[in-house]
Amino acid sequence: MSHRFTADVVIIGAGAAGLACAAEIVRRSARSVVVLEARDRVGGRCDTRFQPGLLVPMELGAEFIHGPSRPVLSLLDKSDGVVLDTKKTRWFGEQGRLSQRPDLLPEIRRTMRKCASALKRDVTFEEFLVRTLSRKLSSAAVAYARSLVEGYDAADPTRISAREVVEEWTGSGGADSAIARPFGGYQALMKFLADQLVEPQARVQLATQVKTVTWRRGDVQIGGLFQGRPFRAGARQAVITLPVGVLRQPLRAAAAVRFMPALAQKRTALGKINAGAVVKVALRFRRAFWEKLDHGRYRDATFLHSAHASFPTFWTALPLRAPLLVAWCGGPRAARLSAHAPEKIVDLAIESLESVFGEHAAARKHFLGGAVHDWLHDPYCLGAYSSLAAGGQGAREILAQPLRDTLFFAGEATDLSGEAATVGGALHSGLRAARELIRKR
Ligand SMILES: Cc1cc2nc3c(=O)[nH]c(=O)nc-3n(C[C@H](O)[C@H](O)[C@H](O)COP(=O)(O)OP(=O)(O)OC[C@H]3O[C@@H](n4cnc5c(N)ncnc54)[C@H](O)[C@@H]3O)c2cc1C
Repeated sequence: MSHRFTADVVIIGAGAAGLACAAEIVRRSARSVVVLEARDRVGGRCDTRFQPGLLVPMELGAEFIHGPSRPVLSLLDKSDGVVLDTKKTRWFGEQGRLSQRPDLLPEIRRTMRKCASALKRDVTFEEFLVRTLSRKLSSAAVAYARSLVEGYDAADPTRISAREVVEEWTGSGGADSAIARPFGGYQALMKFLADQLVEPQARVQLATQVKTVTWRRGDVQIGGLFQGRPFRAGARQAVITLPVGVLRQPLRAAAAVRFMPALAQKRTALGKINAGAVVKVALRFRRAFWEKLDHGRYRDATFLHSAHASFPTFWTALPLRAPLLVAWCGGPRAARLSAHAPEKIVDLAIESLESVFGEHAAARKHFLGGAVHDWLHDPYCLGAYSSLAAGGQGAREILAQPLRDTLFFAGEATDLSGEAATVGGALHSGLRAARELIRKR
């Protein structure tokens, strides 16, 4: 016998967007809601892990609050959460030596502002960098700009829209915005949202993979697997928060969700939104050995960079002092890295760390273990976070548009508030979709 769930509204996905959307519908209307989630946990790309004996959380997905993200800060406020501000103290490793150097980003931002008018027609960031910015920037700044697009936007510079990068970097958010962390990790915020979804008005159904969505005005029928067995769900309206990587799957792929009728209106827009690549490794040590190296020079380091290593960026848990480092690689290099087995990826992270501190630091001797999650091949994600391809202006708006007052769309890639690709953007999109849906009878 197959399971059957019915409600006024079905929400597909219990990530930040789906949970925020469900909580808002429950708060502002009498409609019943069921959230269908393929994983056995809520939070999606917010994935906080705790290890015995380690007092700080390991974030395998989202970790930072970028800039004054209103939706995240308001959620922290409501949940009596605590914010940990993080300074950016950077050290750069070159030829076995670590040094601090002037931040090149202000120069890049200034030059971008001056040259923005050259972008009458959108081009790839690489084209803009080579043809326009490189005439006015030092070669070090050119290389740094490229590495930021790869590392921060998780994007391929030869694909991402130059306009999107310029808007992001010259606005209030972007790569040099202030950063903070939610104390206790993002999972606490996801749990706070999920705790508001209580019977009889709402429920979250875990281990429920949606495979088909058959819809017409005012009627949505969903099919798939609940704990490996068939289920059906019916509702008058649905909110789709599936990541772009999943929405872009060809129909024959195992992770595909088949819409009947197909989402033809969204196809071109989906082709213009990339699902970026990131490999992030949490590395646990016996002690924070780097704090004592070279007479304590790096004791207050938050970010460590080694441009040519497999993992070009590391960060510490500061302001909390903990024996934990995060290794980060984004963009095309990350796509290549994620082809390796997890053990090899962890090994390459330690090798990269040795290239930052030098062999004498004996990073391996202090190493206890690493944790990594492959977001690029995770069937419920298939990419880290979205970016716009060159010429893709308007694609997020099209993806966000409701269909026939029946299907509504949320998720970081549909965010129109300038915070796409982040938790803040996902929360914002969920609230937007809830309001759109509530306005329709
Ligand atoms: C490694 C990494 C680091 C990041 N770092 C940061 C950061 O520091 N700060 C920041 O703000 N953002 C960061 N992000 C981005 C942030 O995590 C995302 O933008 C945000 O969490 C996306 O939320 P969402 O609800 O749109 O999508 P998701 O969280 O992906 O939620 C979608 C949900 O749909 C579910 N789903 C998928 N397919 C199906 C199916 N067929 N049936 C049912 N359910 C399904 C998924 O399991 C998932 O739970 C990071 C992301 C990654 C991967």
